[in-house]
Amino acid sequence: MNLTPLEPWISDKIDHADLEEYQLQKLRDTLQLAREKSRFYRHRLADVPIDLAGLDDLTRLPFTTADDLRADPLSFVCVSQDDIQRVVTLDDADFPLATLSTSGTTGQPKRLYFTREDQELTIDFFHSGMSTFTAPGDRVLILLLGETPGSVGDLLAIALTRLGAIPIKHGPVRDPAVTLDVMRREKITVLVGVPTHVLSLARYPNAPPLSLKSILLTTDHVSQAIKHVVEKRFACRVYNHYGMTEMGLGGGVECEAQQGYHLREADLLFEIIDPNTGAVQPDGEYGEVVFTTLTRRGMPLIRYRTGDMSRFISEPCPCGTHLKMLERITHRWSGRIPVGAGYLTIADLDEALFAVDGVLNFTAALTRENSHDCLQLDVKIADGGKLLPVVQALSKAVPQSRYFDVRVSSVTDIPASLAKRTIIDRRNRA
Ligand SMILES: [Zn+2]
Repeated sequence: MNLTPLEPWISDKIDHADLEEYQLQKLRDTLQLAREKSRFYRHRLADVPIDLAGLDDLTRLPFTTADDLRADPLSFVCVSQDDIQRVVTLDDADFPLATLSTSGTTGQPKRLYFTREDQELTIDFFHSGMSTFTAPGDRVLILLLGETPGSVGDLLAIALTRLGAIPIKHGPVRDPAVTLDVMRREKITVLVGVPTHVLSLARYPNAPPLSLKSILLTTDHVSQAIKHVVEKRFACRVYNHYGMTEMGLGGGVECEAQQGYHLREADLLFEIIDPNTGAVQPDGEYGEVVFTTLTRRGMPLIRYRTGDMSRFISEPCPCGTHLKMLERITHRWSGRIPVGAGYLTIADLDEALFAVDGVLNFTAALTRENSHDCLQLDVKIADGGKLLPVVQALSKAVPQSRYFDVRVSSVTDIPASLAKRTIIDRRNRA
C-alpha cells in the first residue's frame, strides 16, 4: 500500500513545518487580505477579532454561504480586474462538482474569480493527486469540459503533462460508441469522467476489449453501485475525487486504500459543523463540510458552507498518512427530501437503481396526488433492459419507499448533465 502522494507534496509545500502552524499563519494572512481588500468581508468581519491565537478560534468567525456568493460575487474579489485570469459562472455547468443551486430560489448564478496563481495551485494539486494512480507515459482520456483555457479539463491536462502522462481532451460522453472507439484507437490507460458518463461506457454492449489501469470518477457523490459496475466491466481500480469550483475545483482524492479522501490541506482548511446549530462537530461525527481557503488570492472564502454531508474518519488510513481523511460524500444537506418519518436523498435512489442491470441514468421528482406522495422516475435503460426490476430494487433497498407510490417511465434520453443530480420536490406546487 503506497502512501498518498499528497503527504510528501504538502510536506514540501509547507517546507516541512508543522501543518497546523502553517495553516494558522496562512489563515491569518487570508483574514487580513479579505478584510482589507474584499468589500464583502470588510463588512462581514468588521466587528470580529481576526487576530486568531489558534485554529480553534476560527469558530468565532461567521460562515459564508452560497447565497452570499450569489448576491454579489464581485464584492469578494481582492485583486484588480487585470489580475483575474478566469471567471467561472456556475450556471454554465463548467465543472461537474458544483453547478446550479438545488434550491433554485434565486436566478442569480454563483461566480468565482481566479488569478493565475490561484489556477497554478489547482494544477499543482491535480498533478499530485493524479499521481496516485497515473504514471509517466499513461494515456489519459479527459471526459470533462476542457476547451476553454482554465477550465477543469484544461488545468487537468496541464497537470498530467507535468506528470509525464499524455492527456487527451475529449469532453463529456455524448455517444458511448464514439468515446469507446477513441479509447481503443488512442490506447487509453486512464479515464477521468463523471459517474453516469463512465457508466454509459461500461454498459455499452459489445464494446471492444480495453485495457485500463485506473479510472477517476469526479463528482461530489459517486454511488458505490456505479463504482462496482465500472470496476467490474473495465477490470481496473476506480478512484474518487472530491471538489467544487469554490474550492478551486480540487478538494481531495482517495489514496490506494480508498477509505476516504485525503485533502488539499496546505490550501484548504476543512471543518465539519452541525448544519442546524453551526457548532463544530467532534471528529467522527457527521455534519456539513465547511472550508476556508488558505492560499487563494483572487477570491478567498472564509468558512464556506458546502451543503455536503460527511465526517472525518478517526481511524488512521492504511496508507499510513498523517493527513486527515474525509468520508466519501453521500448527499447534500439541502438535497434531502422529507418523506414519512425520515428523508429521501438522491444517493438512496442511486444505490438502488444503478445496481439494476441496464440502468444508465434517471431523473426523479416527488409529487403530491390525492394527498399522497408519488415518486416519478424517468429511467434511461439500455436496450433489452426491463423496468420491473427497477421498482423491485427500489422497494427492497429504499425503506422510505413505503411512504410513496412509485411511477416508472422509460425514456430514450436524459441530457448528459454535468450538474449535480437531485430529486425535484414538486409537492408544494400542486
Ligand atoms: Zn490513505
